[in-house]
This record gives sequence, C-alpha cells and structure tokens, in this order.
Amino acid sequence: MNAEYWAALGSRRGAGESLGSWLRAGPLGAQVVDEPIAPELEVPQLYCPACRVEEAGRRRWYTREEWPTDGVVCTTHALPLLLCNAPPTRLRSRHWSPILRGEFRALGEWIQQGSAGELGRAIARATCARSDPRVAYSRAWAEAQWHLWAIEWPVPAAPRLPASGNLVPLHQRDRLALSAIVHRLYLALETGQGTLWPALPIRPRVLRWLEGRIRLLRPSWRLHLGRCFRDITKPPR
Ligand SMILES: [Zn+2]
Repeated sequence: MNAEYWAALGSRRGAGESLGSWLRAGPLGAQVVDEPIAPELEVPQLYCPACRVEEAGRRRWYTREEWPTDGVVCTTHALPLLLCNAPPTRLRSRHWSPILRGEFRALGEWIQQGSAGELGRAIARATCARSDPRVAYSRAWAEAQWHLWAIEWPVPAAPRLPASGNLVPLHQRDRLALSAIVHRLYLALETGQGTLWPALPIRPRVLRWLEGRIRLLRPSWRLHLGRCFRDITKPPR
C-alpha cells in the first residue's frame, strides 16, 4: 500500500490539489512529512481561501499543483494567496472590490505566463536595486508599494524585510506587492498609459543599465521609460 492509497482513505483530493498537500491530509498526515516523498511540505505552503474541499461537514484547505512556489494569486479564484506553516483550519477571504479582483486576475495570468521573461526580470531588478546602502530595500520599491497600499491592495505600507537585509522578499505580502509593481510597470512600458504613481527614482547607473536592456529587448519601450523611472539624483519633473 502506497502513500496515495492512504491519502485516499483520509480525504478526497481537491480539484488541482498537489500530491504533497493531499498526502498531508491523509491518515499518515505529518508522518508523510518525514518521508522524502514530499520534501516541499517541510516549508510553509500557500493557501487560497476558496481552494477547499467540503467533506462530511468539515472544510479542508489545500495547495494547488499549478501554483509556483513563489505564487501570489490563485489562478482559479483570483484571490491573494496566504503563506501558512500548517494547513489552516479556518481561512476567510475579504470582500474585494471588482476593480481589485480584476487586477488580481490579470496579475495571476501574467505570472502563469512566465511574468514576461527577461523584460519582467529587468524591471524587477531595476526596481529592487538599492538606492541607499543603509536601507535594505530601494526607494523605488518602497514608493510604489506605498501607492498600492493607498489604493487598498492587501500589502503593508512599506516592505518588511528580514533582518539580514536580503532583498528577496520573504514576506508573502511583500512578494505580492513586488509582483504587482513589476506587472504595472510592464503594462505602462508596453502601452504608455502610465502607472498610478510618479516615475520611480533609481540610481543613474541602474537607469543606464535598464535603458540598455530595453534597447536590446524591446526598443519601443524607450518612449515610455521616462514615465516609469527617473534619475534619483535629479529633481522630479
Ligand atoms: Zn483558489
């Protein structure tokens, strides 16, 4: 009898549920975690408030196969994902405005399609490049996140980073913010419609590097670059 047999005894597998998530819900439960069969269960897992199985009067939340480990939005329900150390016993979703739901959905689809590859990575790198060596996160990122927070995105008003000052945003809400910021910048560069914030201040060296990437990968974006990023050493226009 294998682990899947045991899992099936304990619980129905949710639509799109990952094998690891299902095994944990089975009668072997936490025991499975000690086995090499599901090493991903040793780290916190993502959960969506609407991804759940209802069985015999109880609710069970689960993790989907299709979510990337750094996912931020449920691709089925367009809801922000939560990072939990153990399967949650209660998970409530807030009531989001139709505008935010639309933005969550667009962001989830964009990430599922690979976050626009090299151009997306270049925008993320420029946005995260430190502007002051004494501050762990960049001013560009902090300013954009504040604007998201101000229009009721479920993100903190400023990035919260681990004490090590590591730029990898380990907090799930920071990860959501950074993904949303890069997505908006990408759309603004593509369409010229602008973001909802003033051009983000980055260091001249980073700006030149980004210009170089854009010249190489998508020359048409140069027209809109000035609305998205500006030289931090010069006063805003
Ligand atoms: Zn979901």
